[in-house]
Amino acid sequence: MNTSVNFSSDTRPTLLAVLAHPDDESFGIGGTLAFYAWCGAEVHLICATGGEMGDIDPEHMNGYTSKAERRKAELNCAAAKLGLASVTMLGYRDSGMPGAESNRHPDALTTAPLDEVAAKVTHHIRRLRPQVIITFDPIGGYRHPDHIAIQRATVKAFQSSNDPAAYPDDLPAYQPQKLYFSTFPRWFLRTVVRLMPLFGRDPSRSGRNQDIDLLSIAMEDFPIDAEVDFWSVYQCKEDAAACHRSQGGGSMLMHGVFGWIFKLFGGRETFMRFYPPPTPGRRERDLFAGVHIGPPTKRESSAVENSPNNND
Ligand SMILES: [Zn+2]
Repeated sequence: MNTSVNFSSDTRPTLLAVLAHPDDESFGIGGTLAFYAWCGAEVHLICATGGEMGDIDPEHMNGYTSKAERRKAELNCAAAKLGLASVTMLGYRDSGMPGAESNRHPDALTTAPLDEVAAKVTHHIRRLRPQVIITFDPIGGYRHPDHIAIQRATVKAFQSSNDPAAYPDDLPAYQPQKLYFSTFPRWFLRTVVRLMPLFGRDPSRSGRNQDIDLLSIAMEDFPIDAEVDFWSVYQCKEDAAACHRSQGGGSMLMHGVFGWIFKLFGGRETFMRFYPPPTPGRRERDLFAGVHIGPPTKRESSAVENSPNNND
């Protein structure tokens, strides 16, 4: 069991998560973020939108003038529980679920040109200098348009940040070493899809707003190349999820019919590896495995020129 990863005191391992909404960091990969923070890594978060399209009951709006303000307060709470070193907001507007009118709002993340978003992410990669980056899988986990948009921008930024001519800014070029996509194990999703009807739930209409088609998501086949066991910091993930009270506070993680499933299998978070290309059949237990900490070697500097294309 992977209970800790020891980083020597003269190193500065840095992990960057690039996500879309306040709560993605807790409901999704919060265990991994807390685990690496606990191990001594610097863990940073980029959050692309303010989460304006999340439903919020009026009782949770007391003392707040906007949904984005409320959700930022929840994100700050969660960041403290997870031990994050920093949270950077990109300032886009939540686009809402596929087909919603909000997709076309001029400030929505989905209406922003890919190069504009990629330039922002590139700037923060050069500023924070992470060795390892995590974002969503090519279908954004459950086909949320913002998840897909920020995933594409992050892939482009990962491939551009070491090229001074790409998205030039006032920072030196920098090459991160690994890029992971957070993804659910398909066997797990298929098990949930089979169990849901037994509890009177329709898997094609799941989620808080019944707008997530788990059936179609379970049919996508993504490999699991890495698995992080965060059982030692499980409570941090629960506490961070509880910060997002306006979004249910992670009740699905902790209570109800599916609470026991998450407890049983939820001590691990799983990833597919975009770069370096994974070795089929081999599953990593540490996202920093093989990572060089310190000034980049010549080989690292040029490595991503051979990076595979995004295959979404
Ligand atoms: Zn999200």
